[in-house]
Amino acid sequence: MSAINFKIEKKLTVSGKNSATNEESLYRAPLGRAGILTTPHGVIHTPAFVTVGTKATVKGITPEMLEEAGAEVMLANTYHLYLQPGDEIIAKAGGLQGFSGWNGPTMTDSGGFQVFSLGVALGKNITKFTKSANGELAEPQIQAPAPEAKSGSKNASKSEADAILREDGQVLKPAQIDANGVMFRSVIDGSVHYFTPEKSIQIQHNIGADMIFAFDECTSPNEPYAYQAESLDRTHRWAKQSLEYHKNARDSKTGELISDKQAIFGIVQGGRHERLRKESAEVLANMKVKIQDATGADSSSEEVREVSFDGFGIGGSFAKEDMGDAVRWVNEILPEDKPRHLLGIGEAEDLFDAVENGCDLFDCVMPTRNGRTGTLLTKFGKVNIMNAKYKDDFTQLEEGCGCYTCKKYTRAYLNHLFKAKEMLGGTLATVHNLYFTINLVKKIRQSILDDNFAKFKAEFLALYLKRD
Ligand SMILES: [Zn+2]
Repeated sequence: MSAINFKIEKKLTVSGKNSATNEESLYRAPLGRAGILTTPHGVIHTPAFVTVGTKATVKGITPEMLEEAGAEVMLANTYHLYLQPGDEIIAKAGGLQGFSGWNGPTMTDSGGFQVFSLGVALGKNITKFTKSANGELAEPQIQAPAPEAKSGSKNASKSEADAILREDGQVLKPAQIDANGVMFRSVIDGSVHYFTPEKSIQIQHNIGADMIFAFDECTSPNEPYAYQAESLDRTHRWAKQSLEYHKNARDSKTGELISDKQAIFGIVQGGRHERLRKESAEVLANMKVKIQDATGADSSSEEVREVSFDGFGIGGSFAKEDMGDAVRWVNEILPEDKPRHLLGIGEAEDLFDAVENGCDLFDCVMPTRNGRTGTLLTKFGKVNIMNAKYKDDFTQLEEGCGCYTCKKYTRAYLNHLFKAKEMLGGTLATVHNLYFTINLVKKIRQSILDDNFAKFKAEFLALYLKRD
């Protein structure tokens, strides 16, 4: 038994209706689908945007506001919650839902991305997108605060202060990978921690989300092929360990299998290499572990059965222009009847690409992060509300938008809040940006149901990407 159930409602069709735009060849082998994903805490209508609540909160808004914005699922971050407040505190609170007040479906990532982007790869430019040909960086580079130097090392250079001193006296980088896991320094206090696949899953059991991820290594796309291949083997070994540990773990109080309440997704890696991406999809799609089912009080009647991943994540960095290809290679191989989550994607144009290439779920900090800095998403593209021209603009932020912010406030008021650095500004902008993104994916879903995807995509992007 899996903790989740996924049903395809309708597949994306081509139907030749799009001949007017000459785009038919693009949709030759559409992989997109609209589906229904049932979790222990409710139903997700896919494709769906997954709101990021890194530290068990979507920054600046309440769970009620999140619900009103149309969100069906929230993703929290294993790395951050492990460091603060600690996963055991969350377990005591009854899990992520009880702790945060968000009662809908939840996910946690494995912590792999943060361990690497804030540790091993610090300064190596790990982001969701790499620099494209024209040198534009799609996502700001992740930067960790410098860990505090330990006492007695006041005169140490920064690199020395960041290093991990192991018990055997060997000095390591801010994070150090070995065959079994990763040792890393906390971004909060510089303390040293070690993640293994089992440790990551154990933390995710304590956090208690409906869907969790296998521990993986997220490489920088700038690493050479040989390293990508070596890393991929490690990620596959860790995936197997994650699956094995998760599927056999039992609730210490009830004795029930945890996998009946929490589903696990394997993460496809492989950098920008077609061969590695396809290999990764093959390996994970076919990965199975044996578990024992207690069929009664008599333990001798236990049955052994084989189980596999409940869903799949697609991880790593992409060159923006070839994300669609990378996703298609993978989704042509992954089993059709399981959900697929593209990690860290949320720009409008990327959402269309991801959906038509077969992804069901996406998460991204872009809408909330942009909201906090006064960048608002509208059907005409991104708008900086601090621009002086909005000072006395008493119109709605976005005409026709059904969100709380647009129904109640004017551009002039938002302009004022941001100029005056009032905290309500970030809250109202976050509400709008989330509504915009969640609603866009809902419209994409509807367009699949209505056999109207290509037309909707062309019309939406013509307005959204128009530069004046
Ligand atoms: Zn709005």
